[in-house]
Amino acid sequence: MKTIIIGGVAGGASTAARLRRMDEKAEIIIVERGKYISFANCGLPYHIGKIIQERDKLLVVTPETLKSTFNIEARVEQEVIHIDREKKAVTIRELNSGREYTKKYDKLVLSPGASPIVPPVVGVRKEGVFTMRSMPDMDRINDYITEKSPKGAVVVGGGFIGLELAENLQHRGIEVTIIEMLDQVMAPVDYEMAAMVHQHLQFKHVRLALGDGLKTIGGNGRLTATLQSGRTVDTDMVILSVGVHPESSLAKDAGLELGTRGAIRVNNHMQTSDPDIYAIGDAAEVTNFVCGKETNLPLAGPASKQARIAADHICGRDASFIGVQATSIVKVFDLTVGSTGLNSKQLEEFGFPYRSAIIHASNHAGYYPGSEPITLKMIFDKANGRIIGAQAIGKQGVEKRIDVISMAIQKSATVFDLEEAELCYAPQFGSAKDPVNMAGMIAANVI
Ligand code: FAD
Repeated sequence: MKTIIIGGVAGGASTAARLRRMDEKAEIIIVERGKYISFANCGLPYHIGKIIQERDKLLVVTPETLKSTFNIEARVEQEVIHIDREKKAVTIRELNSGREYTKKYDKLVLSPGASPIVPPVVGVRKEGVFTMRSMPDMDRINDYITEKSPKGAVVVGGGFIGLELAENLQHRGIEVTIIEMLDQVMAPVDYEMAAMVHQHLQFKHVRLALGDGLKTIGGNGRLTATLQSGRTVDTDMVILSVGVHPESSLAKDAGLELGTRGAIRVNNHMQTSDPDIYAIGDAAEVTNFVCGKETNLPLAGPASKQARIAADHICGRDASFIGVQATSIVKVFDLTVGSTGLNSKQLEEFGFPYRSAIIHASNHAGYYPGSEPITLKMIFDKANGRIIGAQAIGKQGVEKRIDVISMAIQKSATVFDLEEAELCYAPQFGSAKDPVNMAGMIAANVI
């Protein structure tokens, strides 16, 4: 069996490794457009902030180690430019020489990821304007900071990558302004939760321009970002972080079916409309199992799980992906912001009859030194108490609560189950009534 995998980072490299575990004899070829495979995308902002000091730590696996350890071939700086479904072959271009060749496959896995959206405004191609996806993107930003010693930066977009970049630029002594078109940062959480993040950002001297979009970038050397309101921000650099778009053009050209936001449509085995071609990760359409709607969720966790499912299915196992529920977390300076499931904004849009409860509890017993408050919002079905979503913000212990509730949602648990959840407790770690129990109890009271 010969499998070609397009894209050699989160989903692609995981698929290759799982294929090897399942089949010692399989021929596995990764084709990667970039210079690096399996690098730690999620760590990139932290090398800019010098939290991760050594650049090499981001390179989790190299083509050489992949070959010597797993006998997997990775062809880097090569791009798949065409899929011939009839012949079951791909055309590959070597980016350095321009040479093109074809290679046949038995199974093809698409894990090409998603590319940063560049808003169609004047000035986005100017020197000093960046996007952030890859090691070279990170290197360009780092080199610019080293060479030009910028004093100010504008981050366009208050999603999780924008916020991580804002924090890390600030660590480098750069004054940051975040421009966000919505009236809040962190779209996965509801406004009242995001408001705590706004306050914290301001406390950390990050300027916020909310409810205002980028209109143009002007100037030379020193740049001027003009916003839709007419407000201007003089700056030395701009990072565009307004979201990503699934890289599905290759799939589209091959006649594969696309779905939500142009993501590649797949079944629950991660097969596209051609059963010999799989698609996973940021490029694939997935079902949000909490509401049953199709979506696209560019996060590393789902990508690696889908990789395992695709590899298992290629090797003859009846593996199925259950879908996503959008569990995510981000550090914003001293705060952790986590969420899972659906938020109130989405439920309002669907017209779903939900209820919510917000509690303010301590991450561990108040009498034990160092306890910190957690604000936890629980969203549930008013009819039967089924948990639909949760959001939490605090300095410590947020991830534990969100992970517990995430698992509860996956198992269709109710707020009544949370009342009874038996969670570990000693004063350093929680309370006899953990915030998760408390949220369940308050929600049960509401019902
Ligand atoms: P990718 O990992 O992006 O890999 C796709 C690869 O395919 C790319 O390297 C691309 O060059 C290659 N490719 C595309 N087309 C072709 C072609 N035609 N031929 C050959 N190669 C091709 N997620 C989290 O869950 N938590 C985080 O904290 C987090 N932090 C992030 C921080 C940053 C800065 C970024 C950019 C992303 C972050 N993510 C995070 C998202 C996470 O990295 C992605 O969801 C995940 O990498 C998706 O995996 P993928 O395999 O679909 O795509």
